[in-house]
Amino acid sequence: MSKMNVEEIFAENVFTLGKMKERLPRKVFQEVKRVMECGGELSLSAADVVAKAMKDWAVEKGVTHYTHWFQPLTGITAEKHDSFVTHPDEEGKMLMEFSGKELIKGEPDASSFPSGGLRATFEARGYTTWDCTSPAFVKESGTGPILCIPTAFCSYKGEALDKKTPLLRSMEAINEQALRIVRLFGNTAATKVTPSVGPEQEYFLVDRKKYLQRKDLIYAGRTLFGAAAPKGQELDDHYFGVIRERIGAYMKDLNVELWKLGVTAKTQHNEVAPAQHELAPIYETANVAVDHNQLIMETMRRVAEHHGMACLLHEKPFAGVNGSGKHDNWSLTTDNGVNMLDPGDTPNENIQFLLVLACIMKAVDVHADLLRQSASNVGNDHRLGANEAPPAIISMFLGEQLEDVVKQLVETGEATHSLHGGKLQTGVSTLPDLEKDATDRNRTSPFAFTGNKFEFRMVGSADSIASPNTTLNAIVAEAFCEAADELEKAENFDMAVHDLIKKYMTEHQRIVFNGDGYSDEWVKEAERRGLPNIKSMVDATATLTTEKSVKLFEKFGIFTRAELESREEVLYETYAKCINIEALTMIDMATKQIIPAVVKYTITLANSVSAVRSACAEANVKVQTDLLMEVSELLAKTKEALNKLKEAEAEAKAKTNSKDMAHAFKDVVMPAMMELRTPVDKLEMLVDKEAWPMPSYGDLIFEV
Ligand code: ADP
Ligand code: MG
Repeated sequence: MSKMNVEEIFAENVFTLGKMKERLPRKVFQEVKRVMECGGELSLSAADVVAKAMKDWAVEKGVTHYTHWFQPLTGITAEKHDSFVTHPDEEGKMLMEFSGKELIKGEPDASSFPSGGLRATFEARGYTTWDCTSPAFVKESGTGPILCIPTAFCSYKGEALDKKTPLLRSMEAINEQALRIVRLFGNTAATKVTPSVGPEQEYFLVDRKKYLQRKDLIYAGRTLFGAAAPKGQELDDHYFGVIRERIGAYMKDLNVELWKLGVTAKTQHNEVAPAQHELAPIYETANVAVDHNQLIMETMRRVAEHHGMACLLHEKPFAGVNGSGKHDNWSLTTDNGVNMLDPGDTPNENIQFLLVLACIMKAVDVHADLLRQSASNVGNDHRLGANEAPPAIISMFLGEQLEDVVKQLVETGEATHSLHGGKLQTGVSTLPDLEKDATDRNRTSPFAFTGNKFEFRMVGSADSIASPNTTLNAIVAEAFCEAADELEKAENFDMAVHDLIKKYMTEHQRIVFNGDGYSDEWVKEAERRGLPNIKSMVDATATLTTEKSVKLFEKFGIFTRAELESREEVLYETYAKCINIEALTMIDMATKQIIPAVVKYTITLANSVSAVRSACAEANVKVQTDLLMEVSELLAKTKEALNKLKEAEAEAKAKTNSKDMAHAFKDVVMPAMMELRTPVDKLEMLVDKEAWPMPSYGDLIFEV
């Protein structure tokens, strides 16, 4: 077995700070580092030097092109390649060049990206600008390796046209407000507070040949028909199960590719559903984590192709088995090493932590709707509040220890003690007794405290994690700001902070729920508590432009009203377009594949009846005739449902504004899609497997 030197390959395709240090003159390096740490602009002369060094490094790796890599509102990444080729001189000699200007600023003719009305095509200028806090990297691709420069994407007037700009703005907001909080507690050493993010990525792998036989997977990323396989996930034998050879080989390659890109791929395991897996990197600064998560998703897809497989990132590729999500682990760290979400051993004495916790309780309660919105996308509607968890209701899990501290504070105004985990006794003398964590895990909460971070579990597997983190940063920044406003002017800080913690915790304790988030009782209880239960993406979208939302985002310069309105518009459009594609795919599959296959099968059955009868008039042909009746009946229902779906699609498409259209696709088209699926899935169970025009669920998820 050949040995792999992970330390050597790690970040070999990244223009890291270390490489800059080696390749840049000291002064320029210092300037870059200062801009990365403290913000501001790089001088053009320094940018020229950086660009040249970056290009030389890339060219050594065989790179011929660079791209400003950005994240438009499509939720995925975009790139337009330019080569380093320049105009040849008189003698026809050409030099490969890359200038500081090209590094810092780009102007892709990107008028076709969704902008929700922010840019009319006649004023379609959009600019990409280098986000120097996320390192440039070289990405392998069919066109050869490409130098990718992470950028933000804005309109001519500076309006954000992407997911990164608001995220960076939200990071600045939380930095400013969190610093005020740590200052109140005498921390003068910290100069910066950054959100740290560790996203766990779930995904499915299916055989590529079978994938290509399913138009629904190709066009919609999920199956739109499909009868359940005899076996699902009920035995829990896939979760953490032994990783099969083919999948293992994939994971191994995936890790190598990610390590080369400087992504700290750390954890891998089989997930709950058959053919479902997970990868988690080590957490890092939010914007880098967002970029890396995009790279993880892209690399997952690319490596799958090399292994004859397709990687499905859709939130619900298969009905009846678990869908995929992305747990967004989030915390706040000061540059002098304090995690503001670390309670320590005795949280009751850790006043700064209690204030932070109280602020987060307030933020999540006041803006539960926005948090829900930030995790909504078309695919996630099948998970949240549908048949599987987490529910669409935002609540917070604190665990026994913190819940007890909150209770003491709310009831008596004083928290005098903290529960401890004690010892875990295995009852086996040769096994050591372990110190228990004071808090058990709760897997059903959408927003769970897990030791020294919150785990936002609602996010969809295919979605960018930019929006959830932008919203989290924004709402917590607001709560910090309001707390700091009060506390900075307090005469007696100790008293004031004590009172404020008690006040926030009392007012917002309704958001805390430590029970089973999947239960029906919780839905009722949440309603009693007045917590919003926003069931779909379409319903969630309207929360972006409420007065409360505009006030929040404008106050911290994260979104203007116009930017929020444009995002709302884009989301409605996206929803309508996605469901439209799904409906058309179903119409296509039913018309061209399923109905013809079933018609042929009825002929086989009919032929069998007459052939058997003519061979032996007394022979019993009940099976064939019953089957023929049953299949024909379902075939008629299929055709009827197909016609209804066509009508529903036309009705939805006729709406003149995107909001109405999105609602019509949800309320009229989606149910019609379900009605078509029902008889087809029944037919799949009756028709000869050889005659069925596409691989079954069993073929897809058990025979990878
Ligand atoms: P789980 O047991 O929840 O499945 P994983 O190990 O799969 O845990 O993922 C946990 C994720 O949380 C990892 O990406 C990890 O790096 C990240 N994480 C750990 N500590 C923090 C922290 N303080 N802030 C943000 N993320 C963190
Ligand atoms: Mg995990």
